[in-house]
Amino acid sequence: MTALPLVFDAPRRGMPRRHLADLTREEARAAVAELGHPPFRADQLARHFYRGVTDPAKMTDLPAATREELTEALLPGLLTVVRHQTADNGRTRKTLWRLHDGALVESVLMRYPDRATVCISSQAGCGMACPFCATGQQGLTRNLSAAEIIGQAVAAAAAMADGEIEGGPGRLSNVVFMGMGEPLANYARVRKTLDALLTPAPHGLGLSQRSVTVSTVGLVPAIRRLTEEGRNVTLAVSLHAPDDELRDTLVPINTRWKVGEVVDAADAYAKKTGRRYSVEYALIRDVNDQPFRADLLGKLLAGRLAHVNLIPLNPTPGSPWDASPLPAQREFVARLRAAGVATTVRDTRGQDIDGACGQLAAADSISVPSVAVPTPTAEPTMELGAEGDE
Ligand code: SAH
Repeated sequence: MTALPLVFDAPRRGMPRRHLADLTREEARAAVAELGHPPFRADQLARHFYRGVTDPAKMTDLPAATREELTEALLPGLLTVVRHQTADNGRTRKTLWRLHDGALVESVLMRYPDRATVCISSQAGCGMACPFCATGQQGLTRNLSAAEIIGQAVAAAAAMADGEIEGGPGRLSNVVFMGMGEPLANYARVRKTLDALLTPAPHGLGLSQRSVTVSTVGLVPAIRRLTEEGRNVTLAVSLHAPDDELRDTLVPINTRWKVGEVVDAADAYAKKTGRRYSVEYALIRDVNDQPFRADLLGKLLAGRLAHVNLIPLNPTPGSPWDASPLPAQREFVARLRAAGVATTVRDTRGQDIDGACGQLAAADSISVPSVAVPTPTAEPTMELGAEGDE
């Protein structure tokens, strides 16, 4: 298996045009005013956008003469469906999106009896280089804009409302940042996305904080910043090993921020929100699933505000690794529970359409533009929240 470099600085090229969803309400109103229209038109446009309406002909509350102009200026189409694939009797749907520059990303909508969750991408590719993850093996193409991230959730909400998913019309209730990319490496745009997800209509989807989950590889300064900025969404941390020696190889960012630092930062976050965080742990046969590692993990997490979510590995093409066998999974769960740590095993949806955790690669038969992976500098710097090209 080739070791990829860690990449923090996304190429600046390829970012899309400005979109209403990149702007705050005040900025959107100012942008509309600049075009010579009354500011409240921004609220009307937002209402249409967050309901998934993009066809100007359907915006009947806007004067016919201005619909095209305002849509063109503030609601450019940023995501084009390449195809949908369904699984689990039509209750899981993976969508491959093409972005304006040809970059490809995927999102996965999963309907359960009591909720509907969309798993969205925050970057095209990923720079975190985890060797067991299909996206991590692609390298980083670029950050998504806020509107490109938000658009995936809006499309899922519209698909639910329109009854496109088996089970009849329903409501999108949950969003997880577990698609392609490392959300906290695209901090400023992800933070804007959180605002849009949580803000009530017309300028957002009005989801509740507890039903939005940001999953991170463990970028400690960004976790701390999210703690201070108080969005209070649920945090998930991809740990995958309780000891630094193994985690250095499975989650290469561990060479910068160690296991202890990551769980301390997550603890501080949980204290602030009053809600437990999830520890994600992909069970890989004979790599991280030994009973002694279950005991180490139990010791590490006992007494913390953590909940362990075990994910049997979804093998990716070319990987020498496999999921842990069932008896090993059961033993792992039992040891964690015996240590007093709340533990569940994730139900993996969409495996047959490569839609399960860590399988999103968006590369298959589609011709992909050449991917520029920047050469890392000797000591890469991460500018948290730097908007760069915005
Ligand atoms: N960059 C974020 C989101 C990644 S995807 C993060 O690292 O948390 C969400 C989860 O799926 C992460 O915990 C990730 O480590 C895990 N994952 C990646 N590849 C996987 C695979 N092949 N099998 C099981 N889980 C995987």
